[in-house]
Amino acid sequence: MCDSICEKTASALRNAFVRGDLSARSITEAFFSRIEQVEPSIGTFITLTEEATLRRADVLDKKRASGAPMGTLAGVPVAVKDNLCTRGVKTTCASRALKDFIPPYSAHAVDRLIEEDALIIGKTNMDEFAMGSSTENSAFKITRNPWDTGRVPGGSSGGSAAAVAARMAPLALGSDTAGSVRQPAALCGVMGLKPTYGRVSRYGLVAFASSMDQVGPFARNAEDMAMLLGAIAAPDRRDSTCTNHAAPDYLETLERPLNGLKFGMPKEYFTTDGLSPVAAEALDGARKVFEGLGGQFKEISIPHSRIDVEDGRISSFAVACYYILCTAEAASNLARFDGVRYGHRTHGAADVLEMYSKSRSEGFGDEVKRRIMLGPHVLSSGYYEAYYLKAARVRRLIAEDLERAFDEVDLVFAPTTPSPAFKIGEKTADPLEMYLNDIFTSSCNLAGNCAISIPCGRSPEGLPLGLQLMGPRWEEQRLLSVSHAYQQQTRWHDAAPHHSP
Ligand code: GLN
Repeated sequence: MCDSICEKTASALRNAFVRGDLSARSITEAFFSRIEQVEPSIGTFITLTEEATLRRADVLDKKRASGAPMGTLAGVPVAVKDNLCTRGVKTTCASRALKDFIPPYSAHAVDRLIEEDALIIGKTNMDEFAMGSSTENSAFKITRNPWDTGRVPGGSSGGSAAAVAARMAPLALGSDTAGSVRQPAALCGVMGLKPTYGRVSRYGLVAFASSMDQVGPFARNAEDMAMLLGAIAAPDRRDSTCTNHAAPDYLETLERPLNGLKFGMPKEYFTTDGLSPVAAEALDGARKVFEGLGGQFKEISIPHSRIDVEDGRISSFAVACYYILCTAEAASNLARFDGVRYGHRTHGAADVLEMYSKSRSEGFGDEVKRRIMLGPHVLSSGYYEAYYLKAARVRRLIAEDLERAFDEVDLVFAPTTPSPAFKIGEKTADPLEMYLNDIFTSSCNLAGNCAISIPCGRSPEGLPLGLQLMGPRWEEQRLLSVSHAYQQQTRWHDAAPHHSP
């Protein structure tokens, strides 16, 4: 019973609930029993809210029985990344600095879930403050990939991706600053979307690099993703970078035919040693499917997103530019966690300076400290022009390349990750190696346009692979309808990991 409920898509669950075939309580119980079964071997959640979720389920059951109109996510469980504030529920950002922080308000995206009658089931593990690509930077625990528990789920939203892959929730929210939704989605065999910058309010998302952070949805198929994006994409005056325009009805435009749509393949991405042969092969298969649907492919160039390989060392302007800008922004954003108003406070410091210094030294992990130290360096008077200013200029060039590409083609077709999920511990010793996970994803955050990752194949070891479609700003509906068409022809998105607890 539990497993058959947990296998259902979000839209099937909502329909069953609204029709009265399943109560919100039985849905909640089924998912918590699934979580009890698989959570010990995966380590997805930092906080589970079983009691509160059951109380909420009872409220929803009463509301339904009264005949009141139900929200677009009625009765659908959603897992939420632990950097989105949830009123009255711990929000830690997987950091010792915020280990006991209980926010007095909820993020806009979280409020929207509640307004649409979703069931929030808990807060998912992540890299501390969303800095990382493997979820190994969490202060509390690692999360394992449900397809192979010896491997990482990706990051930083690894818990949210693993929750959806392992059927612990049909939907989840994450955040994407350079790939943190798309990369774990690809490695866990689910869909992940980074909306256009400004599509979803950042209010209540703990800030990392504010000029790039976006809240993004995870789902198993395009229809579910359209439901979730439609719920969270709503104007919000509390984030001045959030658009005032209402989002289109993503479900209504889902069935658009793909015929004649032009896909651009960046030569910089497909002729590099940075892309593994298994990923290249899966992408080739996907290209044939799109061609069969009437899509047209042409080579394009996005020169400032190019990937260079010299003596086996990979480098990328986009990654270099991203790590300069994000450290500058992160150092400033994280200054507030000083143990006074927010964050862990040390015991027994002799004076205020020692209190700041010890509180922050004890509160933050190594990767966060690395970025807090790099930020002021790239902004310092001696280096500002060489680093920050130059990165800001390169950012513009990267964005202009993509703008030009979208004059020529409707979508950019790209890999999401260079290869499938890597082993736990494989990249922790070398931060630069870890940063290279972002070679295909960071350009869209720098440019602000939208992009989606869709499951498109499996490696010989049976690990999921993803393809990335990038769209012009505000064209999420195009990403969703094209994904939907692809999923009518393929079954990659349906496959569940053979995970035995
Ligand atoms: N790998 C990126 C980083 O470590 C991912 C950031 C993100 O998207 N949150 O900064």
